[in-house]
Amino acid sequence: MASYDRSPLSDAPVSGARFMAPGQVSGDGVAVRQPAHPDGLRQPDGLHDSAARCKNKVLAALPRDSWERLQPHMRRVLLHQGDVLQESGAAVEYVYFIESGMVSLVIDGDDGARVEVGVTGREGVVGGCCVLGNHHSVHLAIVQVAGNAYRIPDDAIRAECKRGGVLQNLLHGYMHLLLAQSSQSAFCNRVHTLEERLSRWLLTVQERMPTDDLDLTPEFISHMLGVRRSGVTVALGVLQQAGLIDTARGHITIRDRDKLKTCACECYETVRARFESLDRQSKDSQSSL
Ligand SMILES: [Zn+2]
Repeated sequence: MASYDRSPLSDAPVSGARFMAPGQVSGDGVAVRQPAHPDGLRQPDGLHDSAARCKNKVLAALPRDSWERLQPHMRRVLLHQGDVLQESGAAVEYVYFIESGMVSLVIDGDDGARVEVGVTGREGVVGGCCVLGNHHSVHLAIVQVAGNAYRIPDDAIRAECKRGGVLQNLLHGYMHLLLAQSSQSAFCNRVHTLEERLSRWLLTVQERMPTDDLDLTPEFISHMLGVRRSGVTVALGVLQQAGLIDTARGHITIRDRDKLKTCACECYETVRARFESLDRQSKDSQSSL
């Protein structure tokens, strides 16, 4: 069983660079879901059972031999809202296999502007570019919804991928998904209205939360969507007037998810369909073991 680190990224390669403005979003506002076992560890019946019960879909799809080679390198870490997993342009030291929560992939501009171009949850990994032979992160990867992940050194992942097989195939598939997601974001930012984009974004965040209540301020959302805060405030007001959400200071509650879907642009369903396609590939990998 992999060891479990109770400290948030206590020995992670990057720390301290928080994206949220002071006081905007409390890390306490998004609680890490408590594991079923009181000491935070699942109780595996056997080594490979822990792979099958892993919530990260890439790890869960690994065959026994691959899991056994990686398991000694695994460390389970808590992800707190605002933690930076990777800096843009920095060498990738660890690959994070997300089990719960959500990580935003952000592009930084020279003028301080920051825009989200993709998200990663338990369907994928942060740092998977190593499978493409590139060891430098394209994005700033920042935890948006708290959770936990398995962290594995980059060199261990590369060694496993060099063997070919399931991990390499799954990471290739996930990197293709990220490419599709960032391409869709570029299209979305150019073509769709702010209300449509905001609806899509709220749905994407909520899917990775255990609750309909989101600790998000207009300023934080404005950074993620790359628009002015005043525009976000207006768009939130439109959605609230339509009865889709409630807003309070730093807090958004989704009231009608189905109607919110009707307000979201087509990009929501397009990306969702790609995620489901990748999910089927992972299940096919598992069933063929
Ligand atoms: Zn769109």
